[in-house]
Amino acid sequence: MPRGKKTVYAGFCTECKMRICTVRISKAKKADFRELKKFCPVCMKRMKVKLKEEKHSS
Ligand SMILES: [Zn+2]
Repeated sequence: MPRGKKTVYAGFCTECKMRICTVRISKAKKADFRELKKFCPVCMKRMKVKLKEEKHSS
């Protein structure tokens, strides 16, 4: 994989497992998003996000 290539990650709420966001980040920068927080409409508050790599069938 070329250096600096961006990968799409789906962000899931750590509490209710609902998918709440999608982020494009480079593999090298992934560690910076470990503490990513997003508003979850189910929990009605900002929740820690668990990132999961988006699978593309191509
Ligand atoms: Zn939630």
